[in-house]
Amino acid sequence: MNKIGIDLGGTKIEGILLDNDNNIVERKRIPTQQQKGYDSIINSIISLVKDLKTLAKSDVRIGVSTPGAISKKTGLIKNSNTQCLIGKPIQEDLHKELDDKITIENDANCFALAEATMGAAKNYDVVFGVIMGTGVGGGIVLNGKIHQGRTFIAGEWGHHTLKQKGNSCYCGKNGCVETYLSGPALEKRWKEITGKNETLSSIVNNINNSKAKEWKSEFLQNFGVGLANVIDILDPDVVVLGGGVSNISFLYDEGKDAVYDKVFSDLVDTPILKNQLGDSAGVFGACLL
Ligand SMILES: [Zn+2]
Repeated sequence: MNKIGIDLGGTKIEGILLDNDNNIVERKRIPTQQQKGYDSIINSIISLVKDLKTLAKSDVRIGVSTPGAISKKTGLIKNSNTQCLIGKPIQEDLHKELDDKITIENDANCFALAEATMGAAKNYDVVFGVIMGTGVGGGIVLNGKIHQGRTFIAGEWGHHTLKQKGNSCYCGKNGCVETYLSGPALEKRWKEITGKNETLSSIVNNINNSKAKEWKSEFLQNFGVGLANVIDILDPDVVVLGGGVSNISFLYDEGKDAVYDKVFSDLVDTPILKNQLGDSAGVFGACLL
């Protein structure tokens, strides 16, 4: 059976076709055009899948990685930071146009599955995969299988409350981890402290003045508390970081120390690793579903 994996991201939709031996036959990227709304996104996915299917040499199995999850109660998308998807019957709408078997899974779960199967966490049994990008998510893989949880929210540390009266979040709560550790949140905080609009990569390239130190120390504190809370519950064999924020190198030394400092244990040696698959983890994870 050939496999098609689709990764629905905030800025791009990527599709990949694998042959029976998991070789890449084709991969394509198109912009997400979130501003055009749900129908535009669904039509883009359908045309991408149809394009890839013309190259398939056998029946295909389709996996879709998406922000959010399918609600067990309603069958509709919930918890998505691509907010135009919330409340939409994505599975049903794709089925109407595509006859093949379609599996839909949360993007952080797909990321964790891909890294656990073929990336940085290949030799570990209990894997916590973290996405810190446009939003903050997480996925748990136990012995090669995604742990979805009773209501499909397992791993969603991005909406743990970090500060009770903190930043307001699209989810309706205040102080969620995502409102401190996502790329946009970190850039927003930089602007509050310095008055400057700068991208995350340019901020971390010049981190030596006192305002930058304030920004960095808050960031490390929030990262440390947020991830230590997860480690206290799951005690994973490894944590793998993904998303744009994971490119910041100080997360793997000073960030790791900030996490270890908060974990409830006399021995803390959980590896905190950078992903190996880059932004391809989503499509590969979708193929592995
Ligand atoms: Zn939230």
